[in-house]
Amino acid sequence: MRIDFKKGNGLVPVIIQHKDTFQVLMLGYMNEAAYLKTVAEKQVTFYSRSKKRLWTKGEESGNFLNVESIQLDCDKDTLLIKADPIGPTCHTGNVSCFSTLIDTSFLYELEAVISDRINNNIKDSYTNELYRKGINKVAQKVGEEAVELVIEAKDEDIDLFKNEAADLMYHYLILLKAKNVNLKEIEGVLKGRIKRK
Ligand code: AMP
Ligand code: ZN
Ligand code: ZN
Ligand code: ZN
Repeated sequence: MRIDFKKGNGLVPVIIQHKDTFQVLMLGYMNEAAYLKTVAEKQVTFYSRSKKRLWTKGEESGNFLNVESIQLDCDKDTLLIKADPIGPTCHTGNVSCFSTLIDTSFLYELEAVISDRINNNIKDSYTNELYRKGINKVAQKVGEEAVELVIEAKDEDIDLFKNEAADLMYHYLILLKAKNVNLKEIEGVLKGRIKRK
């Protein structure tokens, strides 16, 4: 077999791309049987890791993926299929499964840095050390930074105020992490409060 199924324990990732627009529609996995069925029928069949069986995309919805071409990558462990979709590829009704834009603006980047320090138990990381002292210590720190911010609010020095505002925001994000709450969820709460006239 020209395709390396061994590397991925019998499965290769398969990118599905629209044959005309080149839009990426979805990603699935194929084992050898799924691949052979796809080639024989010229319609995409995956191996579904959740269903644990061959899954012809469109078998229930009728939204089949007709195969136009199949490309193999340089090290033979990934397939790219250009396809003509009969209907929306995503089960949500979207043309593509990739329709959720992840927010990577700065605060979300900072949230990710904090999670990275903690999840990978990074040594010499202040973030990680504070987190490991437990939620009470983290919450206490947020309280302290809030008080420091209040004190600086009464001061003339705007740079000190900005620094304490930053400290509070940073420790607040660690507290969210300790509570297993995402910044996106807080954003959702705040957005829900906006009254539109
Ligand atoms: P279909 O293959 O379109 O007939 O859909 C059959 C079932 O497969 C659906 O009920 C979904 O659970 C699942 N499914 C369909 N399309 C997708 C997709 N693009 N990605 C993941 N799961 C899907
Ligand atoms: Zn590869
Ligand atoms: Zn989808
Ligand atoms: Zn401070």
